[in-house]
Amino acid sequence: MRSKIGVLDLQGGVLEHLTHLEALGLEPVAVKKAEQLEDLAGIIFPGGESTCMIRLLRIFELEVPIKEAFSDGMKIWGTCAGAILIANEVVGEKPNLQLMNITVDRNAFGPQIDSFHETAVIPAISDEPLELTFIRAPQITAVEDEVQVLHRTNGIVTAAETENCLATSFHPELSGSTAFHRYFAEKCGVSVKQNSTSISDKAWMQRKR
Ligand code: GLN
Repeated sequence: MRSKIGVLDLQGGVLEHLTHLEALGLEPVAVKKAEQLEDLAGIIFPGGESTCMIRLLRIFELEVPIKEAFSDGMKIWGTCAGAILIANEVVGEKPNLQLMNITVDRNAFGPQIDSFHETAVIPAISDEPLELTFIRAPQITAVEDEVQVLHRTNGIVTAAETENCLATSFHPELSGSTAFHRYFAEKCGVSVKQNSTSISDKAWMQRKR
């Protein structure tokens, strides 16, 4: 029975996602092994380094089981590097898992030193303004017909979804808002506590593994 939300726990910003899901009253699974995919209604691929993450997915023999779980109904949200992993096309590079009909351009918002925040209302996600953090972020440069654009940053697509995938160039898990995590959980059919909308900034720094 697919009833839980997982976070791929190989590399990158894992704790931040786990903390947000816990704030919603969920018991997320930190996924390192293929058998952990069996219970999952959805999995979050965190930000980090997509080249490193795809190598680890192969070393940990998760690439094929993830594709199988996806075919069996598990939904995927890719944040930043995670969005690069699921994209069908990556500009100038070999694509990775090819689960979402978008094209991404890695590091197209510039190097680490050009990291930035944007505050924006994304109506599909929340009526409240959300703080969006971009760190060596990819741009979503093309979307096919079945893809809904959720947000544009200076005219560039930075959040999009299909029936089974959500992709964000930015990191909602680095803000105190749980709106994106709630949205993804509900997209996966997992119900969350109604009263939790935010957590204290940097709460994940206190979280023990
Ligand atoms: N630039 C990284 C990559 O291409 C993504 C950065 C991030 O996840 N913050 O994988």
